[in-house]
Amino acid sequence: MVFDLDMIQKVYAAFPAKVAAARALTGGPLTLSEKILYTHLSEGLPQKAFIRGKDYVDFNPDRVAMQDATAQMALLQFMQAGRPKVAVPSTVHCDHLIQAESGAVADLTKALDKNKEVFGFLASVSNKYGIGFWKPGAGIIHQVILENYAFPGALMIGTDSHTVNAGGLGMVAIGVGGADACDVMAGLPWELKFPKLIGVKLTGKMSGWTSAKDVILKVAGILTVKGGTDAIVEYFGPGADSISCTGKGTICNMGAEIGATTSIFSYDEKMAEYLRGTSRKAVADLADGIREHLRGDDEVYNNPEKYFDQVIEINLSELEPHINGPFTPDLAWPISKFAAAVKENGWPSTLEVGLIGSCTNSSYEDISRAASLAEQAVNKGLKAKSEFTITPGSELVRFTIQRDGFLSIFDKMGGVVLANACGPCIGQWARHTNDPNRKNSIITSFNRNFAKRNDGNPNTHAFVASPEIVTALALAGDLTFNPLTDYLTNANGEKVKLEEPKGHEMPPNGFAVEDAGYQVPAADGSDVTIEVSPTSDRLQLLDPFAAWEGIDLKGLKLLIKAKGKCTTDHISMAGPWLKYRGHLDNISNNMLIGALNFFNEKTDNVKNQLTGEYGAVPAVQRAYKAEGIGSIVVGDENYGEGSSREHAAMEPRHLGVRAILVKSFARIHETNLKKQGMLGLTFADKEDYNKILEDDSIDILGLTSFAPGKQLSIQLNHKDGTSETILVNHTYNENQIEWFKAGGALNIIRSKVGA
Ligand code: SF4
Repeated sequence: MVFDLDMIQKVYAAFPAKVAAARALTGGPLTLSEKILYTHLSEGLPQKAFIRGKDYVDFNPDRVAMQDATAQMALLQFMQAGRPKVAVPSTVHCDHLIQAESGAVADLTKALDKNKEVFGFLASVSNKYGIGFWKPGAGIIHQVILENYAFPGALMIGTDSHTVNAGGLGMVAIGVGGADACDVMAGLPWELKFPKLIGVKLTGKMSGWTSAKDVILKVAGILTVKGGTDAIVEYFGPGADSISCTGKGTICNMGAEIGATTSIFSYDEKMAEYLRGTSRKAVADLADGIREHLRGDDEVYNNPEKYFDQVIEINLSELEPHINGPFTPDLAWPISKFAAAVKENGWPSTLEVGLIGSCTNSSYEDISRAASLAEQAVNKGLKAKSEFTITPGSELVRFTIQRDGFLSIFDKMGGVVLANACGPCIGQWARHTNDPNRKNSIITSFNRNFAKRNDGNPNTHAFVASPEIVTALALAGDLTFNPLTDYLTNANGEKVKLEEPKGHEMPPNGFAVEDAGYQVPAADGSDVTIEVSPTSDRLQLLDPFAAWEGIDLKGLKLLIKAKGKCTTDHISMAGPWLKYRGHLDNISNNMLIGALNFFNEKTDNVKNQLTGEYGAVPAVQRAYKAEGIGSIVVGDENYGEGSSREHAAMEPRHLGVRAILVKSFARIHETNLKKQGMLGLTFADKEDYNKILEDDSIDILGLTSFAPGKQLSIQLNHKDGTSETILVNHTYNENQIEWFKAGGALNIIRSKVGA
């Protein structure tokens, strides 16, 4: 048993009373999302109900999940907290660093060798601090979470945007940055803007070729990639209860593609069946005991317009299979209209590769339905015309589908089974192609299809569909094939038609596995040593950041005045830099290289005030650091928008930038800066942005009386000897000012743990 029954018991014991209190406070019936959020408040109930989409609220999540790429910095930071163990149950999953090339066994062997150091580090940190560790090959984080840890009514954060998958088991599960995971593991609360609520009422029942994937492909078409922003999407209605638990997971998973905070279904019999079928009868029994509290109130679901900010209704009986794409997951095509769209838009109709599986669609139900088509193909003399790959989501699923003969059916159809890992879904794909410049089409049952996502090739037109549709199209080798109406020609020249896919929600003979790939952490990890080679270029242990020196910061050099959009990607680029995400000094060589210098309209080209010469931003900053001179970064509106990447706050801190002064911040980045002990300031008068000159030396004044709501002042010392003073605002509360003084939030935690 890898799940924590004690913790679940505690959550459920307190749940009904907390829900009743929340109902009394809000004065009305509650959605399931509200029940979960109000029962996980870090400071108890407030005086009045929260305003959706506006109030920032502190929560105590029940769990933390991390994938191998993002876990590195989260754990390096956590080690700074000085705790002997994580404060809440947490797990690490090795899934993102395995490249797909020739097949499961060979690819896994290669990845183990290439990433030995990182996997070894993650395993030893997990062992030491009481974190469950899922080895490379054990499976993809979200599938493993659904199979082992998700439980209705819970609140979980995970360092991956598809953490939301666990909404399929009735939990509020939200993707966050590593800094948030670190805080929660260290015992701090976690902040979220209280979400708006979108209700999706499902009526009718799916049949034939339609599957759960088509629900979310349809919803993505309606809401678009931005439609779910700052909202939880809650599914309900008779149709919702008819969808399998893993199908619900698929729908919630792709909620990330509409920008939703998360998505969720209420607890029902399908979830209970899944819990029992995955060796968690005890959890199902507990959930059954408070079943009515683990669902939205009837009054809400009967009158959704009164309680949701937006309501969408979909009749599953009328829902057609969909294919979405290319280049964006919200370009939704019912299959009956897709062939015409392919022709009209001139997309390459030859299908080169069909890929099924991933965290989105690799349940037993998905695989068994796709295998039913593969079996028909074999019996009818058909072989896949496209390349065809299968990525099982976990070893539990892989072992079971092998036992049940599905993998050998795929093999006969011409499929290749890849490792239980992300692989092609995240660009970890050494795709075989004879001409990367050729416009080409692929179709996957994954979730994202932005340009270059799968194979790094901008000429690849990636489409997204259910595993059933992907399998059928791979047999045809043609995007314009509609399996509902069209015929295929087999090896004997005969016309054959595929019958509707059939499968099982759960394996009739139960799940089986020999080695799930789980490492139980040491009961007492105090003797476990964590080895990081000092010469490693991928990992580097962190040193605590220095505390504030107790005086105003004077003589700071202007490092860059960034013009226009400056997202976390401009501040800390992804791509090839990702391999250094466990090595702060190395990854800092990408600091702000994407930001546009206001003074020369160039990227990665700023003036070194010490020499008068222009150079790369990180190099100039390192020159200041070498001389013990602090610096300041100036930015435009919404500085730091984009993914919550803690490196974007840590790199400037590491290289000696003391303050970021902008017209406005993206909230998450502003908080990340505060956590790292940086000063995040905004112009009181946005026009003052224009007063900052390239050769300015800058003093930040008023820090000795730094207080919430009290402006600081900044003196700009221009090269011509003149100076002027401007006022700046900040949003630091008492606690955050202590973070600044101590040199970072983790320094405070460490001092408390050590006290
Ligand atoms: S399979 Fe794809 S979407 Fe899922 S966790 Fe891996 S990279 Fe993310």
